[in-house]
Amino acid sequence: MVFHARPPLSPRFRRWSVAVLAAALLLPPSAGTRAQSGVNLPSLGDGAGMSIAAERRLGDSIARDIYRDPDYLDDPVLVDYLQTLWQPLLGAARARGDVPPELSDRLAWQLLISRDKRVNAFALPGGYLGVHLGLVAATESSAELASVLAHELSHVSQRHIARMLTKQDQAAPWLMGAMILGVLAARANVDVANAAIAGSQAVAIQNQLNFSRDMEREADRVGFGVLTGAGFEPLGFVTMFEKLQQAARLNDDGSFPYLRSHPLTSERMADMRARVPLADAPLAGPRVGAPVTGPAATPPKALHSLMAARARVLSENGPDRQRAWLQAGQAPNAAPAAQYAAALSAHRLGQSAQALSIARQGRAAAAPGTQDAWALLQLEILVGPNARALNDASLATLRDQALAGSTRADLLFGAQAALASQGALAGAAARLQAWVVAQPKDAQAWQTLSRVQAALGQRLRSVRSEAEARAAQMDYGGALDRLRAAQMLPAAERNADPMELAIVDVRRREVEELLRDSARQE
Ligand SMILES: [Zn+2]
Repeated sequence: MVFHARPPLSPRFRRWSVAVLAAALLLPPSAGTRAQSGVNLPSLGDGAGMSIAAERRLGDSIARDIYRDPDYLDDPVLVDYLQTLWQPLLGAARARGDVPPELSDRLAWQLLISRDKRVNAFALPGGYLGVHLGLVAATESSAELASVLAHELSHVSQRHIARMLTKQDQAAPWLMGAMILGVLAARANVDVANAAIAGSQAVAIQNQLNFSRDMEREADRVGFGVLTGAGFEPLGFVTMFEKLQQAARLNDDGSFPYLRSHPLTSERMADMRARVPLADAPLAGPRVGAPVTGPAATPPKALHSLMAARARVLSENGPDRQRAWLQAGQAPNAAPAAQYAAALSAHRLGQSAQALSIARQGRAAAAPGTQDAWALLQLEILVGPNARALNDASLATLRDQALAGSTRADLLFGAQAALASQGALAGAAARLQAWVVAQPKDAQAWQTLSRVQAALGQRLRSVRSEAEARAAQMDYGGALDRLRAAQMLPAAERNADPMELAIVDVRRREVEELLRDSARQE
């Protein structure tokens, strides 16, 4: 596809596009990328393109802006759920050799959730993947959702973005600019994006990153192997295709941006249907005897419907819809997903007592595999600002259970419960501290740790943790401000913790260096 004219750009867009243009024009010579990296790129002939390092840098700069976008959502429950799909897919892709060690180590392989209610997912440079809540809400099984993730993962593993950014390709900078505009346009609260859509470039913008048909075919083929290799039901690919096709027939009002970047040709559909019987053949990869990625690891349908309900509620800010869900979930014989949506809607409407009562009913009748999701919902309601007045005795019990749990959502809600109840704070701090040692890029964990440390009266540590939360999202200026503030604390507070003070000094130098590096690249 060719982009004839320049779409209207706001200063923010212009800044992005200029950075992207610079990155695209300053590519290393097209020869040698493949040889240097040693990455094995099957089937598509021309492997030359952007280096892995350059692609990652470009991806990081896009991710940095997404982190600041009001539609970016780090919901602990949905992040954990998506990870239970994403990690087995990534594991299968590695085991199959689709993701060689160098790509595995140097790309981000990170999902970024957007509140957007339209059905979409997209691969970004550097191994970042955008996932709309609308996609999660529209899927009926984990296999359907995983099939889209597997397809997008394969665009990354086959280095389709780098291949599009070859130096010779005159269209490449525009493709890149259009893709990024598309990413922005795909997010609801960006006025400029809406203005851009209204313009004559609507089609170009909506197309996002327009991969070639060969690339789409390859992402289908590799993605299908990854999906089945991870132990997901192969039919997920087909039912997802059918769902999208049906949506395409019914309406094309822009609520399915995924369809624009992935036109469903009958050839693709037929190809996917033909693959299903093959899924049990040895071709499908390490499906048998791989406990971590085996079929047993795929989440039960009952859990998926709760998560889809959660995505639906979190993508909606209008109180009218929330009230409607609240009412529907209280009907006799309401399905568990409707009850979950009702409890979460009541919570978001500030009606804590009602939210808690519905969540308790749901938990009492919870299907296998969904107990933890209901318990977490109860805890989430109890740590909300309106629940304090309830003075509910179950807060301490649920807090201690969560702090003894193993998931990130357990840890984050457990710590919030420690703050809300002013109890078990030291235990929460110790667990968060251990977590951020293993996951230093977890901004929300650092932020929560900062609050817990403040509650414990550890001001120096609290300010440093806040700095780390900024650094984790590549806001090095914000991180530096806080590290300097930590060094300016009253002497009594600084000197009470000489070890931490030494760490602050080391981190300040490191962050200054990172800030210089990122200034050089812009
Ligand atoms: Zn695709």
